[in-house]
Amino acid sequence: MKYSCLHTHTSFCDGSGMPEDYCRAAYEKGFAALGFSAHAPLPVNSGLKTDWHMSGQRLDEYLAAVRAAAGKWRGKLPVFAGLEADFISGVAKPSDWDFDASALDFLIGSVHYASATRCVDSPPEEFALLVNEDFSGDTFAMVDTYWSNVERMIESGGFDILGHADLVKKNNRGGLYFSENDTRYTKWLPRIAAAAAAAGIVAEVNTGALNRGYTDEPYPSLALLTLFCKAGVPVTINADAHRPEHLGGFYEDAHRLCLEAGYREFRLFQGRRDGKAQWGKEKF
Ligand SMILES: [Zn+2]
Ligand SMILES: [Zn+2]
Repeated sequence: MKYSCLHTHTSFCDGSGMPEDYCRAAYEKGFAALGFSAHAPLPVNSGLKTDWHMSGQRLDEYLAAVRAAAGKWRGKLPVFAGLEADFISGVAKPSDWDFDASALDFLIGSVHYASATRCVDSPPEEFALLVNEDFSGDTFAMVDTYWSNVERMIESGGFDILGHADLVKKNNRGGLYFSENDTRYTKWLPRIAAAAAAAGIVAEVNTGALNRGYTDEPYPSLALLTLFCKAGVPVTINADAHRPEHLGGFYEDAHRLCLEAGYREFRLFQGRRDGKAQWGKEKF
């Protein structure tokens, strides 16, 4: 089974280690491809400041570091340069970011924000403020806003990979805030699968929260992954690595989940040609 990861954070944003450290780890694990996906710098006029998005001043340095690593590892490990771009309602979306997307091999589109300033994957106490202050305690209003953001991001396009589709469950271990079987939650899943299929994007099966001990399953859940499979949305497996040792972590669980959802093959990134992401097909 060929392993790859296009969802990789280094010290340029909130990961630890430089591109070279991740390349060495990926090579030692026999990876077929490695892509870097720093959190894209927030638009200058957004007014938002975080400690986890890469600063705009470092974008050129980041791309140069990834390209240098790609040169060094040529012939041994294909290395690609990408970014993970946020959809923040009314503030930013992957299709109209400040940077020149043609300098990249791929772009991951991700929703982290459910309100203008708070993220669904924030620490538990911050997530409680998101629900209680920004949504007056109405959990399903928050859920609606999250999924509506995901749907609008997919429809607005401009990216290749749908990042951690159901990130909203990160702070919901054991159904702490809502039931994922509630129709107010499940009603969104076919809509998201249909939108992803229509957009022709690849969905990632993301083991990042397993790697960091936040969830007991990858993103997305079996329910959503099964709908993705039925709708014909291809999948690729990513570690959402924040340390080199995360690469390949819990991939067996991801494989099992894909098989259970009905998938018999997954996609392996091969680079960008004529402005389009190129993917190979691999059997599980
Ligand atoms: Zn993310
Ligand atoms: Zn990420």
